Amino acid sequence: MSLSYMFVFFFVGVFFGSIWHKIGKHLPNNEKILKKERCSHCGYQFPWYEKIPLLSYFACSGRCSMCNARLDSLKMINEVFTGLLFTFSYAIFGFSYELFIALGIVSLLMIVVVSDLTYFIIPDEVLISFNLYFILLIFFNEGLKAMFLHIGGGIFLFVVMYLIMLFGNSIFQRESLGGGDIKMMFTFGLILGPIVGLFSIFISSIIALPISLFFMYTKKESIIPFGPFLLLSLALLYFIQLDSITLLQII
Ligand SMILES: [Zn+2]
Repeated sequence: MSLSYMFVFFFVGVFFGSIWHKIGKHLPNNEKILKKERCSHCGYQFPWYEKIPLLSYFACSGRCSMCNARLDSLKMINEVFTGLLFTFSYAIFGFSYELFIALGIVSLLMIVVVSDLTYFIIPDEVLISFNLYFILLIFFNEGLKAMFLHIGGGIFLFVVMYLIMLFGNSIFQRESLGGGDIKMMFTFGLILGPIVGLFSIFISSIIALPISLFFMYTKKESIIPFGPFLLLSLALLYFIQLDSITLLQII
């Protein structure tokens, strides 16, 4: 692991972060992902040199160069976080198969943070693309048989959570888990296997509880999207490489 590579991963992450932000923001609205970027205040269309991820934001001090209105800082925050998580993934795994899975999880997290927090939607196109990416990685690294085992794990977890959702809906008489969250269970079983996958749902509830309570009391929000918490726990359990045997021994 080298320091110069860590810098490279940070800037590659920043670049991808700006793409993931665009996808999360425009795809659920059926807008063009490469839509021309304009100032939301005066409509000024930014030239290319004012659209460079991260750098332009600081060069313009976070303001529109035409009308001086504040620019959307969420985009910049998303870029910085993606950069940091890419660097962290490289620091943990080095150049390896696991690194590419980790980069995929982190990227999915950054898209879902934007789309789920803004629209309460996890776009199908995003889930399908990332699932294909993971399946291809597993196939090239572990072969055809392992690939089918992983896919089986994904289907199993999806079906189990789907049944739990139907059961929950009939008891509480309201939607207990979103459709996007249930579809995402396939990805969890695919990557973590069904046992650690189930455990990750438990972990995400623990992460989500204090944060949801905080938002319910301070901002009076009654619905908090669960997708980002699920992906956060997927990332966490993947980074510590928890396998089902170790998990069963701990429990
Ligand atoms: Zn402006």
